[in-house]
Amino acid sequence: MYTSLYSLTVTDQLSPNMHELGITQNIIAIVTENAQGKKVQRVLLEVGKLSAIMPEAIKFCFDICAQGTIVEGAILEILEIPGMAKCRQCGTTFGIDKPFGICECGSMKLDIITGEELKIKEIEVEELCV
Ligand SMILES: [Zn+2]
Repeated sequence: MYTSLYSLTVTDQLSPNMHELGITQNIIAIVTENAQGKKVQRVLLEVGKLSAIMPEAIKFCFDICAQGTIVEGAILEILEIPGMAKCRQCGTTFGIDKPFGICECGSMKLDIITGEELKIKEIEVEELCV
């Protein structure tokens, strides 16, 4: 008997309008559902830098919340996505570290392109093969 690992892609988008504990409980619930009873080895989470979510706080909550579940002992990897905005006035794309800013053309009308994500990108589960 040996084990094989495989990755699942999760499409659920999490709501960033929660505190880290609520988010983490949500993550574990989604991971548990997707893993279908298999032991979870690794969870890859995408967190946008503009989402105001602290990756360290998520990691801290993750270990606590995972206890006693199939997610217990899984590695939580967090991929931070930098903020990018596009100016509605002149179309310039540039990096931002806050969910607002000002373009070099003077416009403050920006569309956020990346940096607000909060999603589970990948789950790695262990499958028992007989
Ligand atoms: Zn502009």
